[in-house]
Amino acid sequence: MTTPGEAGAAAAPASVTVLAGPTAVGKGTVSARIRERFPEIWLSVSATTRAPRPGEVDGVHYHFVSEEVFTELVETDRMLEWAVVHGRHRYGTPRGPVEETVAAGRPVLLEIDLSGARQVRRTLPGARFVFLAPPDWDTLVDRLVGRGTEDAEERERRLTTARSELAAEPEFDVTIVNDRVERATEELAALIGVGV
Ligand code: 5GP
Repeated sequence: MTTPGEAGAAAAPASVTVLAGPTAVGKGTVSARIRERFPEIWLSVSATTRAPRPGEVDGVHYHFVSEEVFTELVETDRMLEWAVVHGRHRYGTPRGPVEETVAAGRPVLLEIDLSGARQVRRTLPGARFVFLAPPDWDTLVDRLVGRGTEDAEERERRLTTARSELAAEPEFDVTIVNDRVERATEELAALIGVGV
């Protein structure tokens, strides 16, 4: 016997999945692979006040906006969540595209920081919360330093953030260990109900 909630998986409403985890664990890499391999999953495009890095495309990787535009998005309630990340720039999830995509029946993936995930737990309590974990602390440090795109002060700031972010794992519904990007990507897609 099935309950109404279990009946007809195809007719079930599309879900929102939140992917969070410590700095440099590879959230960006896993979500980029999701975009490439599982295009049926819609990856939310965040707004940010930080400048683009080489190769980043406005409207694809982020919406790069001014402080004034970001403030207006927040004040007009057009952000589902937002946070100051690493004590510097603001990042947020524009609300409209998420709501439209869910209404269209397509699964949505948000790759955001921990404080953003906590806000989404309040604003979208039905969302699924996934913690991307490193295999161990040393691997996380290697990844953080190895990326080489930030100066020493910024790296130390990110390590401090990472320590407190690792402690948040029990708040999440599911943990995926990012031991190999392809494996972690497939595990996430399978959890969302898409793919392999
Ligand atoms: P990066 O500057 O390296 O692209 O991203 C830095 C951090 O910002 C990452 O931990 C990423 O998860 C987080 N982030 C990206 N977009 C958003 C967002 O829309 N909201 C929140 N709260 N965090 C975000």
